[in-house]
Amino acid sequence: MAEQKAKDFFSEEEKLAIRDAIVAAEKNTSGEIRVHMENHCKGDAVKHAEKVFARLGMQKTGERNGVLFYLAVLDRTFVIYGDVGIHDKVKDDFWDSVRDHMLPLFKQGHFCKGLCEGIHLAGAKLCEHFPHRDDDVDELSNDVSFS
Ligand code: CA
Ligand code: CA
Repeated sequence: MAEQKAKDFFSEEEKLAIRDAIVAAEKNTSGEIRVHMENHCKGDAVKHAEKVFARLGMQKTGERNGVLFYLAVLDRTFVIYGDVGIHDKVKDDFWDSVRDHMLPLFKQGHFCKGLCEGIHLAGAKLCEHFPHRDDDVDELSNDVSFS
């Protein structure tokens, strides 16, 4: 099987399912979730995800509660990166627990399902600390992005 690059990794249907998972999660929280995909990750994955987070302007949320799911598909690497607002509220092992939930699904090739479930878990945790408000603004795009 040919390697699937980031842009073709998910079908249009799957991209919509991921978008729907983000929209559903953000209905319950002021937090913002994004998914960004690349072919390769340069250098340390967490440091790189931090750079992608900044490049996407995800630090510009009012409550610093953006969460990025970053995937480098050809490197089979992924990072869940939460901004300071949410990171200060959750225990360090929260991100690991989401990752541990997703990893077996990824290993079985269920990437879309794994991501959607990870988004759901992150959304539920964001909801505990940053409940949805009537004046909520969708501060960051819900579409999967690529570079
Ligand atoms: Ca919002
Ligand atoms: Ca959003």
